[in-house]
Amino acid sequence: MSDKLWAGARVHLTEVDPGTGALCGNVGLHVGDQESLVRDRRRALAVALGREIVWMDQTHSTRVDLIVRGESAPTLAASGEALGKPMTGEWGPVDADGIIVDARDWQGAPALAVQTADCLPVVFSAASGQIVAAVHAGRRGLLGGILEETARRIRSLDAGPIDALIGPAICGRCYEVPADMADESEVLMPGIRSVTSWGTPALDLPRAAASSLAAWGVRVDIDERCTLEDADLFSYRADSSCGRQALIIVPA
Ligand SMILES: [Zn+2]
Repeated sequence: MSDKLWAGARVHLTEVDPGTGALCGNVGLHVGDQESLVRDRRRALAVALGREIVWMDQTHSTRVDLIVRGESAPTLAASGEALGKPMTGEWGPVDADGIIVDARDWQGAPALAVQTADCLPVVFSAASGQIVAAVHAGRRGLLGGILEETARRIRSLDAGPIDALIGPAICGRCYEVPADMADESEVLMPGIRSVTSWGTPALDLPRAAASSLAAWGVRVDIDERCTLEDADLFSYRADSSCGRQALIIVPA
């Protein structure tokens, strides 16, 4: 996908740098990479996109935070806490798995990033790209309702249509799980259970997310690439010491 216009906003997906090691192109801290290299890559992204970027400290929670304009820094709406600035072009990290920014009356509002390596990255756009969100939805967050919570929060800001883009994740033919986990997940989210290409129990997070979002009246686009099968994307199942890619949304 790399850089494209989508639903009034801009989206950018980072990829593994070609022909290099397990962490090349990585944008995640805490994956054993050298911090200065990660910070440099994040700063380069901000320069390329022409916008500062808010990052999250993702913990598989269902927490979604709204970020508003503060006096000197983007600020969490709920607590009034100003975000830190560890490096030029970088804000946060926000202790959440979903962040929303309302860029109406906020020229140059920051972009939002979600990092993944198999989990589901989802970005949202409403109000012609002026309200955007970035969400990390792994199995736990998805079953816990983080996508529904994000859609609800956006709808409380604007009653118009909402778009969601589901980024590359591990697909339903590759995401093998124990049979009891597949059964328990199916009870919570009917349609999520699937079967691997080798015939064992699995979960299909992209399909389950898409059908749930559609049921809540959200228009959905999907990047069908599977992180496990595509060498240009980081996959934790393929290599547990791998880096993280980022799906970034830049508000209009
Ligand atoms: Zn796959």
